[in-house]
Amino acid sequence: MLATLLQPAKELMDLVAPLRCAACAAHGPLLCSNCRALFERAALFRRRRAGDVPPVAGLGGYEGELRRAVLHAKFRNASLARELGIMLGKKLHRNADCVVPVPLHPARLHQRGYNQSAEIARGIADALGASLMADGLRRTLHTRPQRELRLDQRRRNVAGAFALGPQVELLRGKTVLVVDDVLTTGATIAACACALVSASPRSVSAAVLAIKR
Ligand SMILES: [Zn+2]
Repeated sequence: MLATLLQPAKELMDLVAPLRCAACAAHGPLLCSNCRALFERAALFRRRRAGDVPPVAGLGGYEGELRRAVLHAKFRNASLARELGIMLGKKLHRNADCVVPVPLHPARLHQRGYNQSAEIARGIADALGASLMADGLRRTLHTRPQRELRLDQRRRNVAGAFALGPQVELLRGKTVLVVDDVLTTGATIAACACALVSASPRSVSAAVLAIKR
């Protein structure tokens, strides 16, 4: 609750504090023109379907400037998450009817103040002209953050952690894009896709800001 109350204060601080680029720390706007051009020019990273992990497209590799920008978007600045989402959405040739973010558990949402994946999804939906289904999925288990776990523990951690939201009917026959911030093993995306498939969509694919190589 406190974090939720503090979020506007944090955003105000971001406005009044001398700004630096979230990606390269150069003085100036939150994303400097060099880093913006770097992200805009880079070719999409793609990962093919692998078992129950659907095909994934990413803005780039989880390293360097993009990694720093993603971390900033995840923990500090919702508008940066949305801006990076717009950049990603502009590159996605595969169109989507519905964009569904990986949900945060309500307890973590209160702690952080916003869901970075929902902000990225909002940017993608805007760029694609697709509908954002912010509550297409809900998280039923309060799992440990995947980044705190070994790779071989991640799949079990999120198994059964997601369920369909209230608007199941809107997903039937649709091309659905699941959105997360970072792809590592794909365990989270696979668990989300598994829940979404029960709504009988036409297809499920995924988009993330960064892919760990
Ligand atoms: Zn920069």
